[in-house]
Amino acid sequence: VVNLGMPSRSVITTCAYCGVGCSFKAELRGDELVRMVPYKNGDANEGHSCVKGRFAFGYATHPDRKLNPMVRDTIDDEWREVDWDTAIGYVADKMRELQARYGVGAVGGITSSRCTNEEVYVVQKMVRAAFGNNNVDTCARVCHSPTGYGLKQTFGTSAGTQDFRSVAKADVIVVIGANPTDAHPVFASRMKRRLREGAKLIVVDPRRIDLIRSPHIEASHHLQLKPGANVAVINAMAHVVVTEGLVDRSFVDDRCEEFDAWAEFIASPENSPEVTEPITGVPAEELRAAARLYATGGNGAIYYGLGVTEHSQGSTMVMGLANLAMATGNIGREGVGVNPLRGQNNVQGSCDMGSFPHELSGYRHISDDAVRGVFEDLWGRSLEPEPGLRIPNMFDAAVAGTFRGLFVQGEDIAQSDPNTQHVTAALSAMELVVVQDLFLNETAKYAHVFLPGTSFLEKDGTFTNAERRINRVRPVMAPRSGKHEWEVACEIATAMGYPMTYAHPREIMDEIAALTPTFAGVSFAKLDKLGSVQWPCNDAAPEGTPTMHVDTFVRGKGRFVPTPFVPTSERSTRRFPLILTTGRILSQYNVGAQTRRTGNVAWHPEDVLEIHPHDAEERGITTGDEVTLTSRVGETTLHAVISDRMPVGVVYTTFHHPVTGANVVTTENSDWATNCPEYKVTAVQVGLRTSA
Ligand code: SF4
Repeated sequence: VVNLGMPSRSVITTCAYCGVGCSFKAELRGDELVRMVPYKNGDANEGHSCVKGRFAFGYATHPDRKLNPMVRDTIDDEWREVDWDTAIGYVADKMRELQARYGVGAVGGITSSRCTNEEVYVVQKMVRAAFGNNNVDTCARVCHSPTGYGLKQTFGTSAGTQDFRSVAKADVIVVIGANPTDAHPVFASRMKRRLREGAKLIVVDPRRIDLIRSPHIEASHHLQLKPGANVAVINAMAHVVVTEGLVDRSFVDDRCEEFDAWAEFIASPENSPEVTEPITGVPAEELRAAARLYATGGNGAIYYGLGVTEHSQGSTMVMGLANLAMATGNIGREGVGVNPLRGQNNVQGSCDMGSFPHELSGYRHISDDAVRGVFEDLWGRSLEPEPGLRIPNMFDAAVAGTFRGLFVQGEDIAQSDPNTQHVTAALSAMELVVVQDLFLNETAKYAHVFLPGTSFLEKDGTFTNAERRINRVRPVMAPRSGKHEWEVACEIATAMGYPMTYAHPREIMDEIAALTPTFAGVSFAKLDKLGSVQWPCNDAAPEGTPTMHVDTFVRGKGRFVPTPFVPTSERSTRRFPLILTTGRILSQYNVGAQTRRTGNVAWHPEDVLEIHPHDAEERGITTGDEVTLTSRVGETTLHAVISDRMPVGVVYTTFHHPVTGANVVTTENSDWATNCPEYKVTAVQVGLRTSA
């Protein structure tokens, strides 16, 4: 509900939805939040906003919020409210008890990309220093972990190469597996402005997204590939670049290594557009024309989303994008680059903060003795050199009986992670599930302890957006639960025998800066003075770094990596003849825990299944019919919408509502390098629902 009364004061803060990271002026009358006004000096949004950031903040004061800690001995018991000390003592005692019985590695934690850098940092520190293992992972596991792997292998660090402003200098914009109009609307506006000025657009997507034809914009090419064929498409584009003499030789010779082996691989006829056309579904001449445009059309900028990463070859595809950009010299200046469009407000930050089980903050491997030594000296605790468990490994170990306790920070894994039945079996098998969240979400159904979290309006800290921009998040109201989220992890660690105390989140950022070379120059004082900075921010770049890899890559030379196409094992069959792929819609956000509790729900009251007219007619389905969606792992029910946005044989849905629960049907398949789930390819059958 938006109250339009006159405000008496305002606070500049950052939107808690997508990775654009828009700045807002939160206007209050007394202690009441009156409205959110996009902040005209915001570096990421320049005064613009979308319907989520502007209107969907009412969840913070929604009556569904749980404001008291709760405990129960089994998930069949009723919750009983307890005070904070009791809840924290319960968690600490139980974690220690489980470790005494099953071993140090029997417990772990998951950090949230919705929380601040400081809140994420203290949870990963709690796991490594107090739990004494590296069983910490982030919800980025299920979205952009292949970005982390792929860009590190090729460029040397796990982040987008450009700032958003850079798109104004792009001549050819390539959008792959992303739908910025819905998922990153404010950045999409910048992109559209450049396209209306005359930049060319290439879209690679199985679905006909709005950007392809919007007012005064017409994509030059829509490569409507078959789901799962990403790597074959990018290899074919690179094949055209190499075999038609379109390589930027001076860039490659000066700046890169391992080109010859890659070029030999990519020039193989099996990567040609003609040979791969039956695999990709993209006409060879169309693909050749798109590759020539990207290579010769001036500054070429690649923007990609989860349609790249959430595949069995997600990491391979990220490296394929990097190869293509390096081969054409499209790295290291404004208007070019390889840029992941991050889904959540702080995906970049949660990865930067050392939430992966194999990496400390700043993407440094836990096995590196020198790096680990710096942390050990400051933290006063020796650290395990071996990487810990990833989220899917935790689930497997829980089902196998060796992983018994989990701390979940602000993530609804029972709804968001694939193959829901396996996730809930894992949660049910554990003896301690701790959920820190705003609401009793789907995961909380399996929890023994509920710890109230704080909304972004109660947080004091920083988020890092998709362009590596660190923005301040300033409190608009005091924590409604009476405790800051960062204090909770500190108190659990302290109760477990590892004292962790900070007087204010600025001290946590100071510690992050002391331990992380790319954050060495970051402080709350600097952020308050400059508005924001993009990392790396250190002595070499005291005001931050808008464009990366300008003279050298972070790893020295950019590295070409051969990217053989390996088809996913998920194929359509007679029983499951269609392929399901999933995505997002403008008014909603991820599992909908926030937006469903705002007026935005009126724009999208349920998830629906888009099905091509041909496939619908074969099944006797018309728009509005209730249909069953079945895969080899599960079944759900939705209403159908006939649409030719998808090609024949492909159906599409969103995952914002737990009632339909699209992840009931997604499978256990995942990226070979990072275990990022293959949300984008599921063999399914669709049928009219018959009443019992
Ligand atoms: Fe928030 Fe993203 Fe919308 Fe900006 S574009 S207002 S960050 S949801």
